Amino acid sequence: MHHENESPLDKELRPPAHLADILGRVAQLYRDEVAPREAALAHRLSDEAQYLDRDGKLHPEIIAARREIMRAAGSVGVYSAHLPERLGGGGLGRTDMIYVEEKVYGYGVGLNPALLSWSEGATPRLLYCHDHQREQFVDPLVRGEKTSLHAVTESGAGSNLFDMKTQARRDGKDWILTGAKAYITNAFDADVAQVLAITNPGAGRRSFTYFMFDTREYLGKGYRTGRVYQTMFGDGYTGELFFDDIRLPESAVIGEPGQGFDIAVMSFNYTRMRRAGMCSGWSKYLIERSLERVGGRQIGDRPLGANQGIQWMVADMYVDWLQARSLSLEVARSIDSPGPWYALPRPKDEIRRICALKVSNDESFYRVADRALQVHGGWGVMRNNPVNKLFQIARNLRIPGGTDEVQRTTIAETLGLRYEPSKSAPAEAK
Ligand SMILES: Cc1cc2nc3c(=O)[nH]c(=O)nc-3n(C[C@H](O)[C@H](O)[C@H](O)COP(=O)(O)OP(=O)(O)OC[C@H]3O[C@@H](n4cnc5c(N)ncnc54)[C@H](O)[C@@H]3O)c2cc1C
Repeated sequence: MHHENESPLDKELRPPAHLADILGRVAQLYRDEVAPREAALAHRLSDEAQYLDRDGKLHPEIIAARREIMRAAGSVGVYSAHLPERLGGGGLGRTDMIYVEEKVYGYGVGLNPALLSWSEGATPRLLYCHDHQREQFVDPLVRGEKTSLHAVTESGAGSNLFDMKTQARRDGKDWILTGAKAYITNAFDADVAQVLAITNPGAGRRSFTYFMFDTREYLGKGYRTGRVYQTMFGDGYTGELFFDDIRLPESAVIGEPGQGFDIAVMSFNYTRMRRAGMCSGWSKYLIERSLERVGGRQIGDRPLGANQGIQWMVADMYVDWLQARSLSLEVARSIDSPGPWYALPRPKDEIRRICALKVSNDESFYRVADRALQVHGGWGVMRNNPVNKLFQIARNLRIPGGTDEVQRTTIAETLGLRYEPSKSAPAEAK
């Protein structure tokens, strides 16, 4: 939830003048659409017990409020500002989007993230959709009127796509989709499923195909959801999916059969780049809350922030924020020029920089969140406050979207290194 006063960090954001209009729209949306709903749902947003329903899923009132905010943001061109205009998006590049994202996430951790499309919304996979998919799927997702899920991970296949078991086989002109997916965001409420499956086993990166379908149309016809995972940040939003021989028409394919791997990599790149404004906005929010806390809390005869040990923690938070943000802007500029960021294939050095962006943002945001929690003392440990919530989210971010170890492996590989185990010593001696 937002605090009105301009902070010293606000002055450092310096968004380019041409973004004044969209940033103004974000501020207005926050005032008119987000803040009143956050106030009406304060009892749910600040109490984990009321945030979820009896099944441990996100409470329907919060889902409804999020959907209203998405629609409102869609109607004024904010929700899909990252997509090209030909799809109904705002046509902003990655650099511009960092400023928009950090404005949105800078409001904290209430309903504000719904202002921008994330993994449940207008993802770049829509760039590979066909004309016949436009009216039913693309347009409503771009406008924030529908939500989607992205099903890649399986209980036995996470970091390595080639471990995937979910398959789709041809049956006449149709496809029969069989398998199960794990840890899927928005598993229970999504209108649209986007599923990656093996269609040509053993064909390397040409083995995979993306499918898209209406979840409600296929519910009970081979499509079903499983358990909700109780994540450490209590989102009530992540779950299992099962495909029991779902019969899908040819028109359900995104892109072309065999193109799934490339589309997946493109959309992972987007997810990774999306860390930039998200982590910057949330880190900035945490630094601001920490400044307030250490300035206001009296310990003995002086404010907590009068102690050098505390001041240095705050200084380290600032250094982390500035470092990650500067790196993000530098990487985004190099990707926008010549751009666009979604064109395939991407050059190796660019992929390396995107991986560096993810590692840098995930890890500096985590350090910021850890220190923010520490300077909040016992209050920081309580689950029902935004500092604690962001600490949990920050810890999580190092896993999805390709873990930070996977990013490091790609960085090393694109620098020309391949891991080769030594044959000269037994495994336990290494
Ligand atoms: C909250 C949440 C939401 C998610 N949402 C989605 C979603 O919407 N859709 C979706 O498809 N997936 C989603 N995921 C899944 C996520 O992408 C995976 O959890 C992630 O890719 C890691 O896969 P894994 O869990 O199988 O871990 P594993 O692959 O088993 O990895 C375990 C550990 O080993 C490390 N490791 C793996 N390989 C190597 C290696 N070669 N060298 C060194 N270390 C290695 C990893 O870094 C990790 O630390 C979500 C996960 C979470 C937690």
